[in-house]
Amino acid sequence: MTRRWTDEDRALGMDRPIPRRDFLNGGAVALGAAAIGLSLGGATGAEAAADGTWPQDRPGYYPPRLQGLRGSHPGSFEAAHALRDGAAPARPTPLKETYDLIVVGAGLSGLSAAWFWRRKHPDARILILDNHDDFGGHAKRNEVELDGGVRLMNGGTLMIDSPFPYSAEADGLLKALGVDPVALSKTCEDHAFYRDRGMGQAIFFDKETFGQDKLVGGLPDLGEDLPSLEAVSAFIDATPLSETARADLRRLLTVSPDPWPELSSDAKKDRLSRISYRDYIRDVLKVDASVVAMFQTFTQGEWAEGIDGVSALDCWGFGMPGFRGLNLAPGPAPRMSFTPRGYCQGSSYRFHFPDGNASIARLLVRALVPGALTGSTAQDIVTAKADYARLDRPDNAVRLRLSSTVVAARHAGGDPATASHVEVDYIRGGKTFSVAGAKVILACYNMIIPYLCPELPAEQKAAMHELVKEPLVYATVALRDWTAFDRLKVSSVRAPGGYWTSFNLDPIVNIGDYAGAKDPTRPTLLRLTRTPCAPGLPEHDQNRAGRAELLATSFETFERETRRELGRILGPAGFDPARDITALIVNRWPHGYAPERNYLWEPEVPEDQLPQVVARQRFGRIAIANSDCGGGAYTDVAIDMAHRAVQDLSA
Ligand SMILES: Cc1cc2nc3c(=O)[nH]c(=O)nc-3n(C[C@H](O)[C@H](O)[C@H](O)COP(=O)(O)OP(=O)(O)OC[C@H]3O[C@@H](n4cnc5c(N)ncnc54)[C@H](O)[C@@H]3O)c2cc1C
Repeated sequence: MTRRWTDEDRALGMDRPIPRRDFLNGGAVALGAAAIGLSLGGATGAEAAADGTWPQDRPGYYPPRLQGLRGSHPGSFEAAHALRDGAAPARPTPLKETYDLIVVGAGLSGLSAAWFWRRKHPDARILILDNHDDFGGHAKRNEVELDGGVRLMNGGTLMIDSPFPYSAEADGLLKALGVDPVALSKTCEDHAFYRDRGMGQAIFFDKETFGQDKLVGGLPDLGEDLPSLEAVSAFIDATPLSETARADLRRLLTVSPDPWPELSSDAKKDRLSRISYRDYIRDVLKVDASVVAMFQTFTQGEWAEGIDGVSALDCWGFGMPGFRGLNLAPGPAPRMSFTPRGYCQGSSYRFHFPDGNASIARLLVRALVPGALTGSTAQDIVTAKADYARLDRPDNAVRLRLSSTVVAARHAGGDPATASHVEVDYIRGGKTFSVAGAKVILACYNMIIPYLCPELPAEQKAAMHELVKEPLVYATVALRDWTAFDRLKVSSVRAPGGYWTSFNLDPIVNIGDYAGAKDPTRPTLLRLTRTPCAPGLPEHDQNRAGRAELLATSFETFERETRRELGRILGPAGFDPARDITALIVNRWPHGYAPERNYLWEPEVPEDQLPQVVARQRFGRIAIANSDCGGGAYTDVAIDMAHRAVQDLSA
C-alpha cells in the first residue's frame, strides 16, 4: 500500500527515503512486537540459520550502523515484558555449556564484572548474555556513514563524568584499559571550537509557551560563579518575556536576595531540601510564571526530571541560579540526592569519546575477547574494526552472546546453600536454552531480577521493585551541513516547550584517526534529547508515565517531531528539514538512568536500609551488579558495582 503523506509531511521531508527500520546484512530483521507476539514462545531476535549459526556469528553483522529505533530496540524487551506479565518460558534446551561465571547484561557493569573476574581468575571461562543486538547497554555507539567517512555519536552514555571522583577501582580499570581522561581531554577535545567561531547556547522561546517564536542566543553558562549583570543583560533584553518577567529573570540570575535571613545555613539547606526548585523560584522568590517555564526542563539532562521533580537543595548543588543571597556554606548536606555536582564535593575528571562511553565498552570487549576488535590504545579504539563473529566462539575463554534474554537464574536443586551451580535459562530467536554457571552475576536491571529469581527473599525483591528507572531518549540526526547553526551563531539549543527539549552539534574531538566535523558546509551529526515525564506527579509516577509514552511512540512520530522542530527553530536561517536531514537514529531508553534517592518523595532511611543496598545482597551463588544497586546513574557507579559483586562472590 502506498503511504499517503499530508502536504505538511511532504514539506518536512517525511516522504524522503531514509532508513526507518532496523536493517542488518542488507535485509530487514523482522522484529517488531507484531511479529514477536507477547508470549515467551515468540521470537526475541533473528533466528539461527540451518547450520546453527546466529546472526552475530555471520560476516557483516554490525549493529552500530543500524538506524531507526535503537537503544531499547524492537525485539530486545518483549520476552522480558512477557515474563513480567506472567507468561511461562518454554522448557529449555540444555546446551551442555558450563562456565565458571555467567554474567547477565553486557552493559558497562556486566563487562566490567567479567573483566574484574578474569583479573582475579585468569583462566576462568565466562559467558556474558545480553538481550540487545549490541553490547554496551546504555553505552551505545551510533555510526553513520557521511561525507565519505564514518561519523560517530553516543546513542546513550555521553561521557566520563561523575559528581564524585572515580574510585580507585573505577579509575584503575580505566587506566588498565589505557584511558587517561585528563590527558585525553587535554590532547583530543577542542572545547573552544564553537566558542571561537562566536557560537554558543541559545533558548528557543516557543509561541505556545511564551507567546512568540524566538531563538535567543548568548545564554551564559550557569554554575557556581553566576554571571554578572552585564553578561546576562543582552540575553535578557532579547527574550520575548514581559518587562516584569525580565526583571525577575535578572534578579534570579544575578542578585537574588535572601528570603530567609533569620535562618542558619544548615536550616536553609534543610528547608531547600523539602521543596522543589520550581516551588522555590515560584513561591519563595516569586518569579513570573514564564521564567519558571523557561527553567522547567533545565534539570532533565541530569535527573530526567523537570524542576518540579528536583529539590531546590539539589539544584543549588547543581549550580542553578537563585541562591546567591542565601550565603549557604559550601559542601554537601543531608537530604541531597546522589548528584550534588562538583560544586559540593569535587567532581570527577571529564572526557567525551566521539561515541561516548561506548568506547569504554569496546575497550572492555577488546580486553575480554582477543581479536574481536583491532588496535591496542584508547585512541585507536574509536575507529577500531569490530568483528562480532568472534564474540561467541566455542574456544573463547570469554563468550559474549547477544539477542539473548535471560528469563531464569536458579540454584540447581533449589537450595542456594548446597547447590553446585546455577542454571541460567535464556530466550534467543524464540527458543529457550539453558546453560550452567558455577557463579552468576546479574548485571541487568534490578527490576527484572525478581522475575528471574523468584526464590529471592521477599524483602530483597521488594527493594528491587522500588528501583524505578528513569526514561529518556537521545536521537542522532545526520545533517547535510550545519550552515544554519553557523549563521545563527548557535551550537546548542534549549527548547523548554519543544518535543526535543535540547539539541547540540557534535562536540569536536580529534582522536586517533577520527577528526571532528569542523567545516559548516559539510555533513555532521546532531544530538537531540527528550525526557518523557509528567510534571506534577511524584517522581516514580513520572518515570512510569514516561516509559509508557516512549514505548508507545512510533518512529514516524519521532521523525515528524524532529523535522518539525528543527525546521521551526532553524528555518529562518535557511534550514530545510526535507533537504538537510539525511538520517535519524532514535535511541529509546525506557529503562534509562538508575534511580537516585529523591527526598522530595522518599523518606530518609539508614544507609543499610536504602533499597539499592537491600537489593544488592548476595544470594547463594548469585551476586548483583548494575548501576541500579549503586543508586546513581553513572559509569563509575556501574564499574564500582561490578567490582563489589565480584568481591561478594569471592567472599
Ligand atoms: C541516555 C543516557 C546517558 C547517560 N550519560 C551518562 C554520562 O554521560 N556519564 C555517565 O557516567 N553515565 C551516564 N549514564 C549512566 C550510565 O550509562 C550508566 O550508569 C551505565 O552505563 C549503566 O551500566 P549498567 O551496565 O549498570 O547498565 P546497562 O547499561 O543498562 O546494562 C545492562 C544490560 O543488561 C541488559 N539486560 C537487562 N535485562 C536482561 C535480561 N533479562 N537478559 C539479558 N540482558 C538483560 C540490558 O538490556 C542492558 O544491555 C547515562 C545513561 C543513559 C541512559
